[in-house]
Amino acid sequence: MSDAFRRVIVSKLIEILTENNVYNLDNVNKMIKLEDTIFKENNNVYKYKDTIRHYYNNLNPNGYVQNKNFLNVFLQQNVSVRDVLRMSPQQIFPERWTDVVKKLSVIQKESMFYTVKSDVESMLKCGKCKQKKVEYTELQTRSADEPMTKFCYCSNCGFRWKM
Ligand SMILES: [Zn+2]
Repeated sequence: MSDAFRRVIVSKLIEILTENNVYNLDNVNKMIKLEDTIFKENNNVYKYKDTIRHYYNNLNPNGYVQNKNFLNVFLQQNVSVRDVLRMSPQQIFPERWTDVVKKLSVIQKESMFYTVKSDVESMLKCGKCKQKKVEYTELQTRSADEPMTKFCYCSNCGFRWKM
């Protein structure tokens, strides 16, 4: 990572401050510290760029992710750069997270299936060849009152059935 590139990043971060009328020495120092900490914690160029991009997009209230509040949170005096770097995506952008949770529950209602797991169940006996070499995939519903469906496959004779 070249120093020139890092300076461009820092100037981009400081631009956010000027564009939002919160340019002052403390805030500039906080942006510099953010970049520097991300640089020190991410030894690989891709990780550095990804992390910078993530914070830049969320800090910029007019950026494409439209996170209107994170800049205010970041600039609070009692919030340190380390605190911010430890924040989860939900903490960085709670509104978007709420949206995701809403969408998720709709998807869960629409499609009944929630988790899929595969296993070899030695207790299951193939209805055709009577061998106990049965693999199954279980489709588990989100609501506990729905019974799970097992999709079984006999690895001995290839017979498939549902139970
Ligand atoms: Zn079989």
